[in-house]
Amino acid sequence: MPGDHRQYDFDFIVIGSGFGGSVSALRLSEKGYRVAVMEMGRRWTPENLPPSSWYLHRWFWEPALALRGFFRMRYFRHVTILHGCAVGGGSVTYACTLLRPPDKVWNNGSWKGLAEWQSEMPQHFDTASRMLGLIENRILGPSDRLLKRVADTVGVGQTFYRTHVAIFEAPEGEAGGKTVPDPFFSGEGPDRTTCIGCGGCMMGCRHGAKNTLDLNYLYLAEKRGAQVFAETKVVDVRPLDGAADGGDGYEVRTVSSIARFSRHPRRFTCRGVVFSASSLGTMELLFHLKDKGSLPAISHQLGRYVRTNSESLIGVRVPRSNDDLSKGVAIGSGVYIDEHTHIEAVRYPEGSNTMSLLATMLTGGHPGPGRVALWLKNLCASLLLHPLKTLRLLAPFRWARECVILLCMQAMDDHIDMQWQRHAYWPFRKFLVSRGKRVPTFIPAANEFAEKFAHIAGGTAMSMLPEILFDVPGTAHCLGGAVIAESPEHGVVDYRNRVFGYRNMYVCDGSVVAANLGVNPSLTITALAERAMSYIPFAAETTWTDSAEVRDPALLR
Ligand SMILES: Cc1cc2nc3c(=O)[nH]c(=O)nc-3n(C[C@H](O)[C@H](O)[C@H](O)COP(=O)(O)OP(=O)(O)OC[C@H]3O[C@@H](n4cnc5c(N)ncnc54)[C@H](O)[C@@H]3O)c2cc1C
Ligand code: SF4
Repeated sequence: MPGDHRQYDFDFIVIGSGFGGSVSALRLSEKGYRVAVMEMGRRWTPENLPPSSWYLHRWFWEPALALRGFFRMRYFRHVTILHGCAVGGGSVTYACTLLRPPDKVWNNGSWKGLAEWQSEMPQHFDTASRMLGLIENRILGPSDRLLKRVADTVGVGQTFYRTHVAIFEAPEGEAGGKTVPDPFFSGEGPDRTTCIGCGGCMMGCRHGAKNTLDLNYLYLAEKRGAQVFAETKVVDVRPLDGAADGGDGYEVRTVSSIARFSRHPRRFTCRGVVFSASSLGTMELLFHLKDKGSLPAISHQLGRYVRTNSESLIGVRVPRSNDDLSKGVAIGSGVYIDEHTHIEAVRYPEGSNTMSLLATMLTGGHPGPGRVALWLKNLCASLLLHPLKTLRLLAPFRWARECVILLCMQAMDDHIDMQWQRHAYWPFRKFLVSRGKRVPTFIPAANEFAEKFAHIAGGTAMSMLPEILFDVPGTAHCLGGAVIAESPEHGVVDYRNRVFGYRNMYVCDGSVVAANLGVNPSLTITALAERAMSYIPFAAETTWTDSAEVRDPALLR
């Protein structure tokens, strides 16, 4: 009987266990559905997380090279994208800074006018903040105090703020490291330990203080019966039994994401699917499925409006600094140096010095060969005039202790597009390739701030080598590509995250975000997933006929 849900392996299969996927898994389980979560990354605990970034095989995710960590870098012509890959998605490696975007974002982009966003979203932001355990950071480290001093000196001290973070911190004045029974979910969650301010959040918290998804949403979902399949990559999703719109359910095929030879293929059936593989992962999977004919009706707008934020990583190294600049939480504070430019003080924990291999002396000039030549000239001059000082500056030894990384973000509405094409140098299969106008690789106002910072701290300003050599910026905030829009002519999902052209199919992750947020995006992704799930009926009431609605934005005006 097609209407009988018990003949399917699961009611819903959720692809990916990051912010959108974990919310979906919990809310669907609470509504009485039988849920499976397919996650290609591994499960991490304080015991198996790497002690430092030198343990590359437990930090980077590139299984073909036997690297089975939780952090991945993907290289495109226009941008290098950093993202997480683990049970808990990006939450295992993220810096846990959670900010609400300004209200104006709902009046930009293709979601404009499709819902009463400004009145609907606050309740979902409140739920997301409570579930993720959001607080104002109470642990300011030496880097944060230095940022405040520099901001005061250059006249922007009034913009200094403590970040909002998803970390379990002790009350002000109390030492960290104390383990207590679940403080967040009336005892239903796991025991937690207060933060010791070691700066290690981006290497995965080995102290049980960071509120990663496997300790909140996903933990509770598993308690309610959701099954998480780790190291399991989804490679196919297609409608069952000839109902081309998925009205009779779907088959989902998976392989092992880490096996080298036997890939352990499996087939599951379900009535509904939630794509939550992140902006990049969902685009890649949907492009592949549209191209091979499994989901041919996916909108041609797939890959449009990919937003990468205008970001630049610079820094200041203070050799022989008396203070240990690695202490604090990964992003403890920030400042606004002008209306558009936002800078956060970032750190890696002591001993995690590998990023120093990508750092070099700060170099200005216009992007391109001129900037490379200027960098070479400055480097050679410095090596000739001050050989020991220059080598000491570039050496990995003590880098995390001596360095403040400055993450600069500009809220500009740049976007690129992604397409599914063969490369000239590897024509045997198709890949995601980026297209569009280049995003600027360096922000002059931020460079100037770094120079002043270095002067005040008694250090040297630094840039990232790839930004100088290849003029390609990096971002940890890739958004869009399957955006919310009024119709399939404008986007991939409707205002309730339902995929145009299919039944009981949703996208809940960063790919649906339809405007530049100007802030770190995970809280918004979580709140949007909460909203999408709030519309799904309880299992006992569903008729399994949910499908996307074409909506005229003029109706709401
Ligand atoms: C170093 C770093 C620091 C960051 N710091 C912050 C911060 O402080 N604040 C903030 O807001 N954001 C931060 N981010 C960004 C944040 O991590 C992402 O915005 C967020 O995780 C995106 O959520 P998501 O639900 O879209 O997907 P993700 O959390 O990326 O989860 C997607 C999951 O899907 C899995 N997946 C992909 N394809 C498949 C497939 N075919 N089959 C099965 N599974 C699949 C992936 O392995 C991944 O685990 C940071 C990112 C990085 C890399
Ligand atoms: S600063 Fe250290 S203890 Fe605190 S959340 Fe980050 S990794 Fe965990």
